[in-house]
Amino acid sequence: MRVINFNPGPAGLPLPALERAREELLDFQGSGMSIMEHSHRGKEYESVHNEAISLLTELLGIPDTHQVLFLTGGASQQFAQVPMNFLPPGASADYLMTGVWSEKAYDEAVLVGQARIAATTVLPDKRYVRVPRQDELQLDPKAAYVHITSNNTIYGTQWHRWPEVGDVPLVADMSSDFLWKPTDVSRFAFLYAGAQKNLGPSGVLIAVARKDFIARGRKDIPKIFRYSTHAENNSLYNTPPTLAIYLCRNVLAWARQVGGLGQLERWNREKGELLYGALDKHAGFYHAPVERESRSYMNVVFKLPTPELDDQFVAQAKKAGMVGLKGYRTMGGIRASIYNAVTVDNVRVLVSFMEEFVRKNG
Ligand SMILES: *Cc1c(COP(=O)(O)O)cnc(C)c1O
Repeated sequence: MRVINFNPGPAGLPLPALERAREELLDFQGSGMSIMEHSHRGKEYESVHNEAISLLTELLGIPDTHQVLFLTGGASQQFAQVPMNFLPPGASADYLMTGVWSEKAYDEAVLVGQARIAATTVLPDKRYVRVPRQDELQLDPKAAYVHITSNNTIYGTQWHRWPEVGDVPLVADMSSDFLWKPTDVSRFAFLYAGAQKNLGPSGVLIAVARKDFIARGRKDIPKIFRYSTHAENNSLYNTPPTLAIYLCRNVLAWARQVGGLGQLERWNREKGELLYGALDKHAGFYHAPVERESRSYMNVVFKLPTPELDDQFVAQAKKAGMVGLKGYRTMGGIRASIYNAVTVDNVRVLVSFMEEFVRKNG
């Protein structure tokens, strides 16, 4: 019996993608072995690798100016690798601070070079309940790049209009909302996302990079850390995480089969509206701290009247077949992560559970 999985990451995967992996596990396309036992230089793996890239290119409409990269080390490694590549001595980068992950990205940047906080929405108690407005950005027109976190997994906020940054290259950590809807990737010089939230299993990170931007990256850093090395070698410079990329291929094929990113967006909006609708309807019981215009369609955070009720909510939801609802360890409360693999029906089940919980405890 599969549970309804609201885990924040690693998160649930679409069932058809897992079933396909099960079918192909022992004997990949008549080759007598699993995909993870194949050489990364062999034709079987190469076709999977290139299919994942072409599916992603098709789904996102990635233009010729940009290239897909498969990298390792997660988003956390990109926090360091982005400034290593794009922040030469004498330059400065702008960071827009919207949560824990942007803080971590900024902390790495200042170890490598110069970085400024060009906006922050942090509250005196260190929480964040919204992303900045355009008129709050104090951008340096000469910045090497501007870094944003498109969706703040922990605080449940999301950018719904990209910041206007002029001619400065825009860099985005999209780990927790990559592929949640169609996205104009040409706005970004470099975007990156760990697969394990909205796309696949842990172990691989996807970047979509403007070719001329990475070509200009620093050359006085070790080869393995240069994005240009991976770009020049179609992400096969060293052994990539073949099984993780294979599973991403299955998820991308599923996404295409159900109708592409437009369909995923319709489902994601419906899910978000169902959940926020229930929170607003029972605002006296459920407290949703995020400001309306910044509400995330991927991570919905709320609190019950007491921490004891939060705990009961999580425990009873688990009995009803729903897992992963406990809020981030330093935040408490509840967090429902409703990534692409969570269905509208799954969210309906949660909403009726919430309704019943208010009736019993409200
Ligand atoms: C989960 C997450 C990260 C960290 O990803 P790792 O793969 O653990 O390095 C970074 N940024 C965001 C927005 C995340 O949601």
